[in-house]
This record gives sequence, structure tokens and C-alpha cells, in this order.
Amino acid sequence: MNSPNELQILNTLPEFKNLREELTLVSEKKLRKVYVQKNDYIAIIGYKRLKDFARFTSHEDLSNDKIDYVGKTRIYLTGLKRRGVYRRASEAILRQYNENYNCATPDHQCMDCYNCFTYGGVIAVKGETEAIKSRLKAITAFSIQSDDEALIDEEEFHNIVHTDFRMEQAEQGQQKKPSIYNLLLIKPGVVFPFIDIIFNPSKFDLAMYLEMLRRADAMGYGSRSSLLGTMETKIIAVTDNLTISHKDLLTKIVLNEAGDISYEGLTQQFAQGEIVTDNQLEAIRKRLPELIDAYKTEIYGSAISNPTTKS
Ligand SMILES: [Zn+2]
Repeated sequence: MNSPNELQILNTLPEFKNLREELTLVSEKKLRKVYVQKNDYIAIIGYKRLKDFARFTSHEDLSNDKIDYVGKTRIYLTGLKRRGVYRRASEAILRQYNENYNCATPDHQCMDCYNCFTYGGVIAVKGETEAIKSRLKAITAFSIQSDDEALIDEEEFHNIVHTDFRMEQAEQGQQKKPSIYNLLLIKPGVVFPFIDIIFNPSKFDLAMYLEMLRRADAMGYGSRSSLLGTMETKIIAVTDNLTISHKDLLTKIVLNEAGDISYEGLTQQFAQGEIVTDNQLEAIRKRLPELIDAYKTEIYGSAISNPTTKS
């Protein structure tokens, strides 16, 4: 009964999972499903390509993150950084469909809405800390290109004044002398194969993920607002049985000199039904408004403030 526009993996997924539902344990204690770890997952595999300049850094000196990995020095984009952008994009979607949605990271995590059930949360109540683990795991992505190819040749000079850091720079006066450092930006066109995993997944999760991805890519993953790091994503496969490794991604997604990407070697590692087309993905993404409407009570939970009366 599969139409060519239907993703095969959808057959295995329920439309929605209400993780707020409680299970009764042997001890007769109640436990919300969101606290139960499951090993069911879907993995989304593809690559992201930078559309503008970026800096991916977790260092104090703002240098790009790089590491020697699978034969060259590569730039990397941490899964944590990616997931942070994903969460904000997802929050924006939920707010778009209900302007009274009031769960917000990091200041006000409600622990009772779809976003908290998907991206996790922590709440500390006197001696009783509650933590929801993220169901969405973004695995750190490494560049196809080496750092030499990925970084611009021109150095950008910056200086920074350490106001929190006093040191005598000279015998008399001259404190807080600016330190000067060089910055190299990552070029547009740099390719980052990626794997994102959603545990305990539903059709709604996938529809939400696809819409979230569009927005996150447009928001950018760079660390400064002036350096957006916007990207475009190509999804190659969706599978519930991940058998590929980072090494496969970095050796079988190939970039030629003209900048074209091919990945035949990688698709051979997937079953036919796991390879996805843009049309199939678009078909499920387009169901999002209908799904949000159908499950709005479960999605928003108690994270809705009373509508303020407008004069
Ligand atoms: Zn929440």
C-alpha cells in the first residue's frame, strides 16, 4: 500500500506518542513515559553545507574547533551546539501555532511540553531534582574538507579587552592592554555529514524535525550573530537500524573539484526503503499543521499562559 511518496519507515511509527502518560510500576509508583529509556529510534543521515561564513567554536579564544580525524585535520560542529539551535527553532514553531506557549529555554523549562519531552530539561526543586533526558541526539559532525581547505586564507584581526582579568602590562599604568588575536572563518561550501537520532519516535517527531531543520538551517549554527553559519541540509536516508559509522560518512560522501557531491558508496549501505527523496520528506513535513492541531493538548501540556486581554 506504499505510494512512491510514502516513506517506508513511517509504516513502523505511531502517529504520536503521549510521553506524559503514566505507567504504574510494580511498586505501584507512577512514572511518566518520558522517564523511561527506550532503544527504539530513527536515525536521520545526510550532510549539511555551509551557505555563508561561520565560526564553530567552543574555545575561549574563539578559534574554530578542529581535530585530527579519519586522515586529516577537520573542523567539527558539536552535537550539543546543533541541538541547541534545534531546540530554539522547535520552540519558535510551537509558539507560531500558539502564541500563549510559554516554555522557554533556559529560563523557564516547563517539563511538561513537547519540547521538554524531546530536548530534555532540568528542574531543581529543593532536594528533588527532576531531569528529562533529550530524546534527540545530534552526533558531532566533522567536515569533509581539511581545515586548510575549509578556512579562509585571510586572517581577520580582532582584539579583546579582558575586563575581568587584571594584569600589570607595564611597570607604570597601562592595565588591561588589549590582547590581539587572529581569527579564521570557515568558508561557505564546507560540507558536514551528520547523523541525528530520535529515540522513541513517532510520525509527528519526524514532521516536526523536518520543519525544525528548515528553520534551524536558516537561523544558522555559528557562534556570533554577525557570522551566521547558515546551512542547507540534504537528507540521504532515514533508518531504524544504524549500521554506518563516521568513517563511512567521511569517506563515502565525496566532493569533486567543481563542488558537486556524490554518495553512491554510502547509499549502497542502506536498504532500498531507507533511502529517502526530497518529495517523500516534503510529504511528511507538510502534515505538521494537521498533526499539531490533532495533538495540541498533548503537545502544549501546561505550558500555556492565559491569553492576556488586549485592549
Ligand atoms: Zn516545556
